[in-house]
Amino acid sequence: MDATATADAIRTGQRTATDVVTSALERAAKHNGLGAFLSLQAKPAQAMAARVDAAFKNGDAVGPLAGVPFAVKDNISQAGETCGCASKLLSGFVSPTTATAVSRLITAGAIPIGRTNMDEFGMGSSGENSAFGPTQNPWDKTRVPGGSSSGSAAAVAAGVVPFALGSDTGGSVRQPASFCGLVGLKPTYGRISRSGLVAFASSLDQIGPISTSCRDAALLLRIMSGIDPKDTTTLNDAPADWLETLPAVEPGQRVGLPRQCWTAPDSPVAAVARAALACLVERGVQVVTVDLPSLELAIPAYYLLTSAEASSNLGRFDGVRFGSRAKTDTLDALYKDTRSQFFGPEVQRRILLGTYALAAGYAQDHYDKATAVRAKMRAEISAVLKTVDVLAMPTAPTVAFRLGEKICDPVSMYLSDVFTTPPSLTGHPAISVPAGLCEGLPVGLQLVGAHQAEATLLGFATAIEDARGSLKG
Ligand code: GLN
Repeated sequence: MDATATADAIRTGQRTATDVVTSALERAAKHNGLGAFLSLQAKPAQAMAARVDAAFKNGDAVGPLAGVPFAVKDNISQAGETCGCASKLLSGFVSPTTATAVSRLITAGAIPIGRTNMDEFGMGSSGENSAFGPTQNPWDKTRVPGGSSSGSAAAVAAGVVPFALGSDTGGSVRQPASFCGLVGLKPTYGRISRSGLVAFASSLDQIGPISTSCRDAALLLRIMSGIDPKDTTTLNDAPADWLETLPAVEPGQRVGLPRQCWTAPDSPVAAVARAALACLVERGVQVVTVDLPSLELAIPAYYLLTSAEASSNLGRFDGVRFGSRAKTDTLDALYKDTRSQFFGPEVQRRILLGTYALAAGYAQDHYDKATAVRAKMRAEISAVLKTVDVLAMPTAPTVAFRLGEKICDPVSMYLSDVFTTPPSLTGHPAISVPAGLCEGLPVGLQLVGAHQAEATLLGFATAIEDARGSLKG
């Protein structure tokens, strides 16, 4: 049951919020072995559910998500809860504030039930970079759920909660959604406030929902988006009712397939993604090939720029102000030992790479070039999106890979983000929608839209969802 149907069941009295939240907590306990949650908030969640039930009984006004449980990635803050980014460096850190996206959901009546596992500080594509152990994919427990929002995707795919929040810097909402047969939406940069999201690469980071349906993605986007004085990069664009005004796909509309994303003719994943477009063709949509040469540089540009931003953003974790502190005699050793002992290897790798890329004498060769690639990519994608309504490509080049398969080879891990990083670099909205199965595992189709054109994106995604049906784990 998706969030919309769960909210309806509570509103019409078929179920109580207490019953819904209690069974979510029971399912979380039953699926404990997946490693999806780092902690559960049973008591506050049950208290919130009781308040929702009382509000219904008294005939008080309630929000559109009244009583619907959800899960929150461990880098999105909730006042009074730990917010540790699945890192030893932040273990025990309790957030004093609640992220705007979470507080808007709570105002709409939704109930957070737990913090989800993730790649440390959002750095990873498999969930295996968590300091608290990996998460399993509910479709096949020997496989990764994708990352870095690994626990959020696994919690939704296992049916614990109807939706969860992830953060997406280069694909971390879309790729795990794809690996777990779910819908993952990364909105236009600035659509959802980043206030309360622990920064990884601030100029790309976006919070996004992982859900089981496109209508939920539309509803959650409406609730979470909108200008926020706490994040000056939020768009001053009133949230539309994407659900009510979802545009139908019309004959004559165009889908662009970037040549650079469809180069593997024998890929079974690409075949499943391509087949999902047939329903659009049946409705008179034209599918055309487009050229986006700068996409070939997406992975190097993405890893260089995000590591540069991370090296600066993570500078605050110095052993003095937050979380863990190494026992040392001198201040220099305090910084060094805290970071060496408590950051995991992938986070250390990115800080080193980013520091190098920004160092005097190297920045022109590396950072400036990557910035130029980013600007070119943004111009290319925006220009092509004036000639087609959306772009389409597989969300990831493969289905969920095996736990342990890529962890020793960072470059092959990075390549799993080849299709998701471009819209992150350019700020365009993108969605992963279930396209079908390949050898029994889910394949996601990614659609990319023009800036602020989430309505078009959701319209196309819904058409694909209606034709394919949602995949069940
Ligand atoms: N897998 C990508 C990375 O490791 C994306 C991460 C993200 O979107 N947070 O950087």
